[in-house]
Amino acid sequence: MKIAVYCEAGRDDGLALIAQARRMAPEASVTALLEGPVPEKAARCGADEILCLDTVEDDCGQGSRIAALLAELRPDIALFPATVRGRFLSAWAAARLGTGLTADCTGLALTEDGLLRQTRPAYGSNLLADILCPVSRPQMASVRPGVFPLQPGLSGPEASVRPADPPVPPPLLMLVRRIPADNSVSLSGADVIVTGGKGIGGAEGFQVLGRLAELLGGALGATRSAVDAGWISYAHQIGQTGVTVRPRLYLAFGVSGAVQHTVGMSAAETVVAVNTDRHAPIFRSADYGIVADWRETAEYFIQTISERKAGI
Ligand SMILES: Cc1cc2nc3c(=O)[nH]c(=O)nc-3n(C[C@H](O)[C@H](O)[C@H](O)COP(=O)(O)OP(=O)(O)OC[C@H]3O[C@@H](n4cnc5c(N)ncnc54)[C@H](O)[C@@H]3O)c2cc1C
Repeated sequence: MKIAVYCEAGRDDGLALIAQARRMAPEASVTALLEGPVPEKAARCGADEILCLDTVEDDCGQGSRIAALLAELRPDIALFPATVRGRFLSAWAAARLGTGLTADCTGLALTEDGLLRQTRPAYGSNLLADILCPVSRPQMASVRPGVFPLQPGLSGPEASVRPADPPVPPPLLMLVRRIPADNSVSLSGADVIVTGGKGIGGAEGFQVLGRLAELLGGALGATRSAVDAGWISYAHQIGQTGVTVRPRLYLAFGVSGAVQHTVGMSAAETVVAVNTDRHAPIFRSADYGIVADWRETAEYFIQTISERKAGI
């Protein structure tokens, strides 16, 4: 079996997909299509071969070049991180190759017949659908960043590295200007996340949770309802249409636990949920459930942790 993985310049999401390709199919031959300079950690990321691709500003042109490389490599499976760039390139390449694409997957596995089982939320995210692509090749999927962990250092052989230089087609897009994104919030790598939902009642609630997050050295997360209410910015949103996180500790205050939210935090190691409704679905995802008012609990945590830190 051959697997190709697109790796975006300066990001680790593609390397995490290579690690997952290795876990799924230890015997497969894995080729990384790596944009930009090859980072040191890529050499032992689990790929057999790295094809270095220079970056082309015109995404349509780059998508066509990636399609040309895939047509040459003829992999059974082609994986892309579902970043803004990965989503575009995967869709463009899939259309050029006349194959399907399962976008924004939250799970990947191989079936007994060696087909790629691509799992993603469907029907307004009320269901998780398993999707197979039995006929067209390659089987193509983009995967949400953060779904799979990076391989913590491989001792295997180094990947061979060679340049790939497919011709650059005439540009179809023109870069007019760049608008910087809000990168001040770093949820993906956070060890501790304190999340507030609609149940915290307003923007002021996030100030209380922010104090708790700070004491724990963590980041502040939010549900879509809290973001939609304008209480906190979108950069904090966790879930299907926000970011996927895998902290060691996830504290959820006033969060009901809709599947569109839990799909983004189900990889958390330990989940503590605080909700006044003992039947709230979030308790099904929680290791520790506290049926109580969010504010009383958060303030109790703040006081206890502050006292411990002060050695009282
Ligand atoms: C296509 C689609 C994509 C979506 N994407 C996302 C996404 O990425 N992320 C996301 O989060 N949602 C997403 N949603 C929305 C999702 O379906 C839910 O509506 C949302 O997660 C609910 O947010 P919530 O838990 O904050 O609010 P609610 O569902 O209103 O829950 C509030 C909770 O607070 C509790 N509560 C009330 N008062 C207190 C109190 N004093 N103390 C403690 N608890 C209290 C209540 O019992 C309740 O359980 C999406 C929906 C769709 C259709």
